[in-house]
Amino acid sequence: MKDSDSKIPDQKELEKELNEYLGKKYGDRIRLVVPMLFPKPQTEEVSKDEKEIGEKKRKIQFDLKPEELEAFLNDYIIRQEEAKEILATKICTHFKRIKFTEMTKGKTRYESVGHIKNNILMVGPTGVGKTYLIKLIAKKIGVPFVKGDATKFSETGYVGGDVEDLVRDLIYEADGDMEMAQYGIIYIDEIDKIASSNHTIGPDVSRTGVQRALLKPMEETEVDLKVPHDPISQLEAIEHYRRTGKKEKRMINTKHILFIMSGAFNGLEEMVKKRLNREGIGFGAEIRSRDERAEYLKQVKAEDLIAFGFESEFIGRLPVTAIFERLEIEDLYAILKNPNNPIILGKKKDFKSYGIDIQFEEDALYELAVRAYEEKTGARGLVSAVERALLKFEKRLPSTDICQFVVTREVVENPELELERLLQDPMHPERLAKFEKLLSREKRELKESIMSREGEFRKRYGIAFPESRIDLIARRMVNKGYDVNTVFEEVVEVQRQVEEFERDFQQRNGIRLQFDGEAVDRITEMALEENMKGEMVCFRLLKDYEHGMKLIRDRMGRKEFMITKEAIDDPEGYLNRVIQEVYSRRFDLEAEGNG
Ligand code: ADP
Repeated sequence: MKDSDSKIPDQKELEKELNEYLGKKYGDRIRLVVPMLFPKPQTEEVSKDEKEIGEKKRKIQFDLKPEELEAFLNDYIIRQEEAKEILATKICTHFKRIKFTEMTKGKTRYESVGHIKNNILMVGPTGVGKTYLIKLIAKKIGVPFVKGDATKFSETGYVGGDVEDLVRDLIYEADGDMEMAQYGIIYIDEIDKIASSNHTIGPDVSRTGVQRALLKPMEETEVDLKVPHDPISQLEAIEHYRRTGKKEKRMINTKHILFIMSGAFNGLEEMVKKRLNREGIGFGAEIRSRDERAEYLKQVKAEDLIAFGFESEFIGRLPVTAIFERLEIEDLYAILKNPNNPIILGKKKDFKSYGIDIQFEEDALYELAVRAYEEKTGARGLVSAVERALLKFEKRLPSTDICQFVVTREVVENPELELERLLQDPMHPERLAKFEKLLSREKRELKESIMSREGEFRKRYGIAFPESRIDLIARRMVNKGYDVNTVFEEVVEVQRQVEEFERDFQQRNGIRLQFDGEAVDRITEMALEENMKGEMVCFRLLKDYEHGMKLIRDRMGRKEFMITKEAIDDPEGYLNRVIQEVYSRRFDLEAEGNG
């Protein structure tokens, strides 16, 4: 039965239901008087909403391929090669399987019996990219993501948080779109903290209780949207009904929700080591890797996790394991040098918002990496190292005229002294030259790195990227502080809009416009700069000349126009040239005919 067909509750019924509930909770101190409810007729607005929701769901990339996703992750994540491979593959397959199952729905009788979801267990220290990686994947696939902490859970869910709260949070993340929420990703951190402790005698009841409470949601269960002990959600339901005239669908099924559990699992490597020794696998001596712990953990089996304090049913619902490695100084340095990394991009933006451009010297980045490493919090240490070096500048420079600033190794080592020096002589030619040199190097390096991967981007985005287009992309990345895929996606979107305009123009006027590559780039630049849609830019450029083109079409039968970059910059001159060209050709023809 469709939602709209279900019985609309009577106002008295609602009032009674709510008051019963409030009575139980607060005694007779509170009574609710429900205002008159008039279900809103099915207006166009609602159907538009529904249309948008449908479109949003269609935006989920069910068809992304593992290698595409892995390549995308490589743009952002340093190291963690094995984890990237496992997660890209298993998460793509999770979504592909959902689509496949929906397509074959009802065709096989026993389809979902015994279906095991690819829920994932991630093991690794703090600040090595676990959350970052899953967030990137969720963004790329286009599904909502929420993160919770297992230490907040309790068996019953009444004290502290509850996994069902996370399911409800998914709806919030999906802007209220239930359908989208059902394809969301739930990330639960510190899962190792709900392992029953080995130090206590007998089973650790509350922790295993939390594990058991997670079993059903991890597999499949219906979660009630209305929190039973929360009057707000009851009122929201009324409000929803008043707005839309529909009773809200109350349940959300967790069948397609992907659960990702993560933790540091200190000591787990010892259990693996012991088992390997017991099994007579002389593994220990051969491990000479930079991260010995990770090498042991890569051998982890269900029995080790059980020894660690997990119930076998719980482990059984986490069939995929990914191990994350510790990050060394060189890795932290590579993270800072990556032009897509949000730490440096974010800092540049902070200063830019005050009209100040900053550049980082390589030595400064290395020094930041060294300092961050000492904190032993992985890449998280980078954020605090950067803050510590730049805070004084962030406070002082906005009140000065200084609009360029180079972060040198000296700035990282002694921020206060360097700030004084900068303030004393901000316009020193050497300073200015250094800034310019770093800026042009940044652009050059970006351009070169994109050019060297042109083939890969062509494949990823389905269009070619000649040098001029790459130039445009590199410039935008530097000027706006955007990461590579954000800019590529923007550019591809404008190009699609230009094609749409071409099609539309042909339909309306029977005239085929062909924008050449440079013209498209020019339009792209204008659209991005002015924050306009490609179609609007084309429309604005050509609206005065549509008439002229139609005249040429009617008088001379010409139905194709090549639009070049010059035509974009000077549409009037372009049209005059076309007219002259057409006339002179006609004149030639006539002369030939007469001759
Ligand atoms: P955790 O492993 O504890 O979940 P996060 O993924 O939240 O750590 O990492 C914190 C931040 O550090 C990320 O937002 C990202 O900017 C940076 N970071 C961590 N690991 C990596 C990595 N391997 N490559 C690139 N950046 C990383």
